[in-house]
Amino acid sequence: MDLNFSKADLAFRDEVRTFLKENLPVELTEKVRRNLQVEREDYLTLHRLLHRQGWIAPAWPKAYGGTGWSLTQRYIFNEELAYANTPRVMPFGIQMVGPVIYTFGNAEQKAKYLPRILSGEDWWCQGYSEPGAGSDLASLRTRAVRDGDTYVVNGQKTWTSFAHYADHMFCLARTKPDAKPQDGISFLLIDMRQPGVEVQPIVTVDGTSDVNSVFLTDVKVPREDLVGEENKGWTYAKFLLGHERAGIAAVGRSKNALRRLKEIARAEHVASKPLIEERAFAEKIAQVEIDLTALEYIELDVLSRESTGQGPGTGASMLKVKGTDVQQAITELVCEAVGYYAIPYVKKALFDGWNEPPIGPEYAATAAPTYHNWRKASIYGGSTEVQKNIMAKMVLGL
Ligand SMILES: Cc1cc2nc3c(=O)[nH]c(=O)nc-3n(C[C@H](O)[C@H](O)[C@H](O)COP(=O)(O)OP(=O)(O)OC[C@H]3O[C@@H](n4cnc5c(N)ncnc54)[C@H](O)[C@@H]3O)c2cc1C
Repeated sequence: MDLNFSKADLAFRDEVRTFLKENLPVELTEKVRRNLQVEREDYLTLHRLLHRQGWIAPAWPKAYGGTGWSLTQRYIFNEELAYANTPRVMPFGIQMVGPVIYTFGNAEQKAKYLPRILSGEDWWCQGYSEPGAGSDLASLRTRAVRDGDTYVVNGQKTWTSFAHYADHMFCLARTKPDAKPQDGISFLLIDMRQPGVEVQPIVTVDGTSDVNSVFLTDVKVPREDLVGEENKGWTYAKFLLGHERAGIAAVGRSKNALRRLKEIARAEHVASKPLIEERAFAEKIAQVEIDLTALEYIELDVLSRESTGQGPGTGASMLKVKGTDVQQAITELVCEAVGYYAIPYVKKALFDGWNEPPIGPEYAATAAPTYHNWRKASIYGGSTEVQKNIMAKMVLGL
């Protein structure tokens, strides 16, 4: 395993870094740096910029609009996005449904949807989870019934991230109720802008609402928007989950958050000494840094295996669990660093443009909401407990 970047990789890193520095609007990167709420237009600003540059879908095959970069270049690219304080590239189109469509879709679906995913014209959301069907996804109950050339869909999806922005949903629905749970599911592309689709926000613990309930009542889906074969949706759904976990360790984002934590710990004082020099706190920072470095090496190892054609194995689960632990630990230490100033909850302070005097230092207002919001990381994309089950089975043979 060679973990050093080559000269060409370093030149590539410089190219990406320079491009981002010269082209990203400062208002956007400041929002991310300060942990403020990122909205639809912010995500789209980044998306359009990368699309114009031809960099929006590095993992796609070149024939469909990918960059042809190596895995190492893709890793470097993601790191640079994180260091530059960009919002995340929304995964639902680029990382999730795009690969399903170019792998399992027909020519018409590819021509209709892929260019609009690349350009950002269509915003997608993921309609998998339902009340009572999360970890046990195969127990989903949304029904799609054939009526001539149309499916009529009824059911409820939940926790649907950014459904309130979405033009389309990729949705798992049961088309054969009497089959084994995994066998009777189909993968449908649903137009969200039609009667019968109702999106209701769910307010999360930090007071914001990026997630939603989506109610589907007699929603019409033309047969041409069935991906692959009827009742084979579970295969495509699992393929997509493999893509969902790519980059899930968020090493670059955590490195950036750690830098910010250190800045805060330098600015805060205990008995006129910078907090970062206080032994007990410094040790906590060091522990997170050690874990993060170990995580980075696991990720590079997984990458190195993948570049030689080996699958990630349990690496993906390990990255998910440890990546989540590190992300959450950093948000916890930020709260500890700002102390009492983490207590007041001022919702408006989470949004750009708020100009009232902050309670305490400027960075304190987002400390607790960010801490609370990141509890989500151990639930979405496969909960920590479920990932541990996978590792227990595959590594320990339990
Ligand atoms: C912020 C956020 C965004 C999300 N976005 C989306 C989205 O866009 N689209 C979408 O489809 N879904 C989305 N989800 C849903 C997410 O995938 C589910 O929440 C997740 O799969 C867990 O399912 P659940 O909430 O039904 O919990 P459950 O599956 O009911 O689990 C409840 C608890 O039991 C534990 N548990 C469950 N099964 C086992 C087991 N076998 N062994 C040990 N412990 C177990 C879990 O770890 C958890 O602690 C999102 C969730 C969150 C929090």
